[in-house]
Amino acid sequence: MSRWWWFFAFACCAFAAGPSAADLAKSIREAGLDADQCYRVRDVSLQKEDIRLYFTDGYLIFSKPVEGQRRGAVFTADVEGGDGEVLLLPPFPAERQSLAMFTQSANLDEHFRAALMIFTDAAAQALLDRIGKEGSGRKAPEIGVAMAERWGPVLANVETGFQMRLVEDALAPADEGGMLFLALDGRKVGNFDMVYDPRSREQIVAGQLTQRNGRLTYNIWTSFPARSSRTGNRKPQTPWFTPSDFRIDAALDPDLKMKVTTRMKIRVGNRPLRVFPFDISSQMNVTSAKIDGAPAELFIQESLRGRALRGSENDIFLLIAPEALAANSEHEFEFDHEGSVITTAGDGVFFVNARATWYPRAAESFATYDLTFRYPKALTLVAAGDVAEDRIDGDCRVTRWRTPSPIRLAGFNLGDYEKVSGNVPGFTINVYGNRHLQTSLQPRPAPAPIDPPPGARRSPIDRLNAASPSAPILPDPLARLRTVAQDVSSALEFYSTNFGPPALKTLTVAPIPGAFGQGFPGLVYLSTLSYLDPNQRPAMLRDERHQVFFSELIAAHEVAHQWWGNVVTVDAYQDEWLMEALASYSALLWLEKKKGPKALDSVLDDYRDHLLAKDAEGRTVESAGPITWGPRIESAGINDAWRAITYEKGAWIFHMLRKRMGDDRFLKMLAEMRKRYEFRTISTEQFRDLAKEFAPPKTGASAVDAIFDNWVFDTGVPELKLKYTVKGVAPAVKISGSIAQSGVDDDFSIDVPVEIQFAKGAAQTLWVRSSNDGVTFTATVKQVPSRIVLPASVLTKK
Ligand SMILES: [Zn+2]
Repeated sequence: MSRWWWFFAFACCAFAAGPSAADLAKSIREAGLDADQCYRVRDVSLQKEDIRLYFTDGYLIFSKPVEGQRRGAVFTADVEGGDGEVLLLPPFPAERQSLAMFTQSANLDEHFRAALMIFTDAAAQALLDRIGKEGSGRKAPEIGVAMAERWGPVLANVETGFQMRLVEDALAPADEGGMLFLALDGRKVGNFDMVYDPRSREQIVAGQLTQRNGRLTYNIWTSFPARSSRTGNRKPQTPWFTPSDFRIDAALDPDLKMKVTTRMKIRVGNRPLRVFPFDISSQMNVTSAKIDGAPAELFIQESLRGRALRGSENDIFLLIAPEALAANSEHEFEFDHEGSVITTAGDGVFFVNARATWYPRAAESFATYDLTFRYPKALTLVAAGDVAEDRIDGDCRVTRWRTPSPIRLAGFNLGDYEKVSGNVPGFTINVYGNRHLQTSLQPRPAPAPIDPPPGARRSPIDRLNAASPSAPILPDPLARLRTVAQDVSSALEFYSTNFGPPALKTLTVAPIPGAFGQGFPGLVYLSTLSYLDPNQRPAMLRDERHQVFFSELIAAHEVAHQWWGNVVTVDAYQDEWLMEALASYSALLWLEKKKGPKALDSVLDDYRDHLLAKDAEGRTVESAGPITWGPRIESAGINDAWRAITYEKGAWIFHMLRKRMGDDRFLKMLAEMRKRYEFRTISTEQFRDLAKEFAPPKTGASAVDAIFDNWVFDTGVPELKLKYTVKGVAPAVKISGSIAQSGVDDDFSIDVPVEIQFAKGAAQTLWVRSSNDGVTFTATVKQVPSRIVLPASVLTKK
């Protein structure tokens, strides 16, 4: 259910220190434009880091001040020969490529008819003062009246979308720095936005709200760190506050509506703080909140634009302390919230919608959890951690879970389950399956037999058959429960041996209706399709690829998330691929161990075919964008591109790293990653540096750079052709060869293995750095080779 109108709920008391958030929001929204501060301007410029705006000729009007601050301004070029212009030059090739994909130009140089600006700091006032000082504008109050009338409501409407942020910034620590939002009416590209946000990792964003497949989507044209950040002239950000020690009491009524009280400890960062932003599912209503036992103001509002920008179904809400809480102080926060986060997928089969955000969360931080659920006793409810208490109370069952170590987030699942336990020393593994079949997997009833024409003779046998048409065979939702439990155990054991201990020693696996899985700390959601016999899966999923996915890979992928995502995690969309690609490749390592290298090669081969598949315009899936674009890959409009690139190209990237490093170094690197980044985040760059540490001596580090520059930060899959001659006799056989590369940009250059095979003894591998100019190589070997090949361990066109 969408809830993108805004509302607020707040405690009834009046606040001594400063206005309430609700009052502040109302004042900002109702401020309107200030007709007295309208100017006919010529050659006024505004620069914010990489964004350069020129109000060449037109009118500029400012909003009325609220709490001493003007937060809005509007420029129109509505005069004879009027014009505005904006310049933005992305500093990285991949960002220029992205911008060009949307605007047909690698740099943005756009003339505009109108610009709407929202400032959350004093920048608007500074601009106004500058116009006065420079004399670059002359007051135009009559035009101001008309502009205020025309543009006031437009500005108020956009401000409503930014209300959370406007309030948050008004109450933020003083040295935090403000945001600039620009909505521009471009002459070539139409309406588009630009943002400078000092609190983002990439402070500069340009993009456009559009419709795709009937849904509102936000296309990010380009996004990158601002100049001061790139040149290191920016002080590092410190978290405003850190939550820990979550205690959650949840009660599910017979309709599975949830009423929850969530308590947590909050440690304020190194600056006093009054405003605390949280995330929660839009299906949950936060009804009240307390700080240290006293009611505190809640400010809740959501806008469609805000959701589209964040690509999320979650709402942001603010908790506002009556007065700023002291730096480094610790407090008890308490929230009451309720909602329907569970849906029925058929008789006795349930689906937890808001798996990650059914309680208030702030940033990605590791914390311990103490969870108590009260729920209908006919059901089984599972959650992360160890069971500390389990009892029946009337019609309810009450179960309490505790996590012995910090986890990233706490999930739960419920149903009418059958359980099989795994058997791995040192671990508790429980795998649950549904006793019932979700509606979507139940075959439709067979068509009723057509009655014979009246008067036709029917034998007693015919009549009997007509009365009992053969009943459709229902898939058994527990067919593979034991197999799943075995695979989960074997994968957990394999990963523990190679990577070290997982997030928690207790792992629960429970089904989720759908074709996907999700690996939460201590709790895996596994597609119900994995539990079905392969022959009973829906017909369209019975090809080899889907069978391998549902029977072998998905469970192993989700179990691998116990390490990748739940011990080590990431906090930016650019790095998300690391966790998904690593989980996918870990599953392939496990498959290789279970079924041999051919099984792994065949999956990788399938991934290659996917990535090189072309759409109607002749674009390959892989060309949609570099893997670090994350969800932005979808903006290219190539079907399935984000998934294929993140999971499949991602697995290839790890495979190529492994081949270049050797198995031993590769596995040691993963174990070190788990150890060094335990309960912390890792970035793509940090991972690259780690890989360099473990790369083979001499050329290894530059080979790792080549892998990242070409496969991670860029697109392109080369075609490689090998030619060679063999001269001389044993023991001095001379090989000369060349590798021709095509189908990629001129700067594409990677290490390619040339495998020299012999009739007897192990093959030798020679690594050659490729180039579009072609490269040659020579080698001297002791015996005449039987074959020289480019092995299939590099992602190339066939
Ligand atoms: Zn995953």
